[in-house]
Amino acid sequence: MLDTRLSYREHLEYVNKKASETTGSLCRILLNIRGPKQVRRKLLATVVETQLLYAAPGWAEATAVSSYRQVPLCELVQEAKEIRAALAGDQANHRAKTRMQSVDNWQAAWDNSSKRRWTHQLIPSIEPWVKRKHAQVDFYLTQALSGHGCFRSFLKRFGHDTEDGCPECGSGIVEDAQHILFECRRFGYDRQILPLMLLNEANWKATAAYAASVLRTLRRPDNERRGAPA
Ligand SMILES: [Zn+2]
Repeated sequence: MLDTRLSYREHLEYVNKKASETTGSLCRILLNIRGPKQVRRKLLATVVETQLLYAAPGWAEATAVSSYRQVPLCELVQEAKEIRAALAGDQANHRAKTRMQSVDNWQAAWDNSSKRRWTHQLIPSIEPWVKRKHAQVDFYLTQALSGHGCFRSFLKRFGHDTEDGCPECGSGIVEDAQHILFECRRFGYDRQILPLMLLNEANWKATAAYAASVLRTLRRPDNERRGAPA
């Protein structure tokens, strides 16, 4: 119950009256002899406690005012408040620990996997990746990070190109994501940002812009080779 000054005096009086009535009713059915067993008694007694402590953290401070102490609620309410805070703290700690364990397990699997080595090269550490707040992965960045894009080695794997060599850098050099993003003579600019992409939002955006520029450039010759519109 709310009063205009939020003193909760009326609420304490109301709770006291209601809990007393319930206690009286329960006393009549909880006979000492041939009455319910202790487990059931405890269960029924929690009805009173629930009435007393309903929304207690919200009005707990009012129990500190001595003139409002219609019932000895102060300690009980403070205890309920502290238990709730401790439980919330424990849950948060537990969640954080569980998340850390998951990340550790993921990191171990990531380091030991034989797949996605290209992506591992770009993102060796899982933790800054999962904790990042600034980063959206778009169409082109996904291709760059996965290596699944207009790279000739990837296209050839799926029968979309007959060659996998880089037309710019000479025979024997495979055109894959690593070559294009880190080595190819065609794309020298801005590539130093790649290992720093997770540091901050500006780096992330610069990396995304670099990936988009490179992938769009690669798409043109790919479309020409396949006779598709640019
Ligand atoms: Zn090249």
